[in-house]
Amino acid sequence: MFLLVGGTRPEAVKLAPLVLALRARGCVVRVVATGQHMRLFDETLAAFGLVADVRLGVLEGARTPAEVLGRLVPVLAGLMPGHKAVVVQGDTTSALGGALAAHYAGVPLVHVEAGLRTGGPEPFPEEMHRTLIGQLADLHFAPTAAAVAALAAEGVAGERVVMTGNSGIDALLWMHARLRSDAALAAAAAAPLAGVDRRRPLLLVTMHRRENHGAGLDAVLAALVVLSDGMEIVLPVHPHPSVEWPVHAALAGRPGVHLLPPLGYPAFVWAMMQATLALTDSGGVQEEAPALGLPVLVMRGVTERPEGLATGNARMVGTETGAIVAAVRGLLMGEGLSAMAEPTLPYGVGDAAGVMAGVMVERFGRA
Ligand code: UDP
Repeated sequence: MFLLVGGTRPEAVKLAPLVLALRARGCVVRVVATGQHMRLFDETLAAFGLVADVRLGVLEGARTPAEVLGRLVPVLAGLMPGHKAVVVQGDTTSALGGALAAHYAGVPLVHVEAGLRTGGPEPFPEEMHRTLIGQLADLHFAPTAAAVAALAAEGVAGERVVMTGNSGIDALLWMHARLRSDAALAAAAAAPLAGVDRRRPLLLVTMHRRENHGAGLDAVLAALVVLSDGMEIVLPVHPHPSVEWPVHAALAGRPGVHLLPPLGYPAFVWAMMQATLALTDSGGVQEEAPALGLPVLVMRGVTERPEGLATGNARMVGTETGAIVAAVRGLLMGEGLSAMAEPTLPYGVGDAAGVMAGVMVERFGRA
């Protein structure tokens, strides 16, 4: 039996293909929802026809990463016995909690999306989370050659690292194909964009990162106020209070600005398929946009996902108001936009989960 631990939307997107691939190989898989973002995790799993097998209720009122971790580790450790391996994904507090619990329980740990590093100033707390998980993991599924190299540079033995591609691309290509073939699904996914004026360029914005809370977010919101004059802005608002409140205070009621609740995964993929340009600090969106040929501006000072910069699909723009306004307007006036809209697959070709499941069965047996 394999135990997969996750708590946030991106973990659901990137673990779902692995759950399906392991089950397709006859493995018994249990998914634990930590409750970090319970509603988003549940809804996102449901888009893949999955439900969590265990849903923890210990995070009510937990605000800081320290509180979340302190509550999760003992409960998760109690779930570990009897499992051949534990799988965590990415860099969240839930993933670190699962990794620590597996380590204390003596159960082998598998890290999906291993080896991402900024190599520069460290985004808090994600870089610390994924580096610590990298210390604890027995098997590292690295999405790209750069991730493999980062693990080698940290002394991780080569036989523990497998380059797989990112399972988020499996999820994306699967959903993209479904949206093109299932008219009812596409109609439901299109509904949140019903109020958008399709004659104007569509800027799709997401932001949630802790490193941008406060001053960074305020500067971005000032840029969106200026930009809303010439385009439609669609912004599914992350439910974190440090994001939700300032966004509504700055933008609610402004013409051309569509503040939406977090979109279900099919609706968000649909929105990416319709958008002219994405402006984001999301890791997942940085990976998904190149695959869809959606130009993406990254509102960060560093990124652990340099591959999309190298292919020309992504550009770093930071969070400074003037820089964002200039970059968005420059691109919409034609400068470089079509080159950035050339679809590429630097993060994987859509077969990552099958590779991961094959390796897990080989190393741990058909659990
Ligand atoms: N996403 C979604 N609905 C939204 C915004 C994003 O389903 O309203 C998806 C997106 O396609 C990607 C993932 O959620 O797969 C990214 O999540 P997030 O930006 O919260 O986390 P990060 O990738 O930065 O860790």
